[in-house]
Amino acid sequence: PCGLVWFRRDLRVHDHPALFHALRECAQVHCAFVFDKEILAPLPRADRRVRFIRESLVELDASLRALAHDSACGLIMLHAAASAAVPELAERLGVQAVYAAHDDEPAALLRDAQVRTALAAQGRELRLVKDHTIFARSELLTQAGTPYTVFTPYKKAWLRKVDPFFLSAYPVRIPPGTLAPRGEFGARGIPALSALGFAPSETVRLPVPAGSSGGRSLWTDFSARMDAYDQARDYPAIKGPSYLGVHLRFGTLSVREVAREAYARMQAGSSGAAAWLSELVWRDFYQQLVAHFPHVVERSFKPAYDAIAWETGEQADALWTAWQTGRTGYPLVDAAMAQINQTGYMHNRLRMVVASFLAKDLGLDWRRGEAYFAQQLTDFELASNNGGWQWASSSGCDAQPWFRIFNPVTQSQKFDPKGGFIRRYLPELARLNDTDVHAPWLARSEALRAAGVVLGADYPLPVVDHAHARDRTLARYSVVKEAR
Ligand code: FAD
Repeated sequence: PCGLVWFRRDLRVHDHPALFHALRECAQVHCAFVFDKEILAPLPRADRRVRFIRESLVELDASLRALAHDSACGLIMLHAAASAAVPELAERLGVQAVYAAHDDEPAALLRDAQVRTALAAQGRELRLVKDHTIFARSELLTQAGTPYTVFTPYKKAWLRKVDPFFLSAYPVRIPPGTLAPRGEFGARGIPALSALGFAPSETVRLPVPAGSSGGRSLWTDFSARMDAYDQARDYPAIKGPSYLGVHLRFGTLSVREVAREAYARMQAGSSGAAAWLSELVWRDFYQQLVAHFPHVVERSFKPAYDAIAWETGEQADALWTAWQTGRTGYPLVDAAMAQINQTGYMHNRLRMVVASFLAKDLGLDWRRGEAYFAQQLTDFELASNNGGWQWASSSGCDAQPWFRIFNPVTQSQKFDPKGGFIRRYLPELARLNDTDVHAPWLARSEALRAAGVVLGADYPLPVVDHAHARDRTLARYSVVKEAR
């Protein structure tokens, strides 16, 4: 038999379940990637992710050719609507089955159902395998057989169930002659960004190196820091986290490989590794949540929270612009927004701070922020992003209580005590002292003058008063209390 491996969010050649199964079951294997017009159409023309994917594909294609020892092999590249293009390709190639990694996002489920139906009509099969998470969908359920909606028991169950089976690699060995030549598709090569309708974004620096080689170098760097993760992860001015999100998102690195290492080091007593593994468990947790409760993609996990009346109108729009552009007058919030706007990344602590600020200081619908993150983040992952926003706005399953409201100044003093992060992203405040840098509007006028800061000109005055906003938020959220 002959098979087609359809690469999607698994852009690597090592530890690859779809390739592993195809190579075991087929005498000849084709490999393809589709730049899906339906996914690309709504993206901004300078989207960093398209560039990350394209650079990763160049490497993937070269790796396949090297593994096959044949330059006629490699990736078949299409730029089309995948739901129609994949069955068409399967027919042209005459394969019996298409192999791909399962994806639980609602749009992906719909697309895969269409592909499955079209393939079935041709007498072919779509074989989906797990790759993106350690445990997926219903692999971990409560004793009552229901999905987990609280993280701590989920994590306990995750740690109880995990064993070498779930963490082992799917080795990829390609016997000579097994990878099929690209034939008529060989001439196409990997399209340039401009051919895909995207702006060649040389001016926008990719914040992370792409491809498996990029993932590998970040992983090597982080492995040496993992033991200190629990101590360092909350301070955005220092290199605490792994920056691996985008590689886990696009599968340029295998989640099994990194979870295996973290698990082994946790067992050897590393509290840093235990804290980091816990983040990977959060990732699985949110993935299974979207699989079981797809309504969260559009609505609150807890329906009572859909009754909240968010600010709308001109004033709300002005606040929204201030948040997006990092001009709220709260330095930690503004520095964080500068980070996401300039690099496509934002530190986890800051994601919590700016999300809370949007919903609970500005009174704006968290879905506006969620959509903005979805557009900006290179590591955008629907389930984690939605989970993070619903956590911060309190509408999520295991969320921050609604009456707990982050104070953006206290957060700044605690997690960026010397203002190192603020100064990096807001150079206009760089000369303020370590106290004033967190709340310039409280600085004495001599201090502002000495630091060369004119409030309202060089840097905005706060767009809301936190104490006042807090009261308004408690009133706004009272509908939730009443619904109980
Ligand atoms: P590390 O701290 O090194 O963590 C390692 C990996 O664990 C991450 O790459 C990620 O895959 C996973 N992870 C870490 N924290 C979480 C978490 N809370 N939930 C789920 N997975 C986690 N994460 C995304 O991957 N994509 C998103 O779109 C996203 N949006 C978020 C939005 C908000 C409002 C919040 C509060 C959090 C969001 N997160 C998201 C979770 C977290 O902030 C990022 O995963 C993390 O900052 C990525 O940086 P890192 O790779 O250096 O993380």
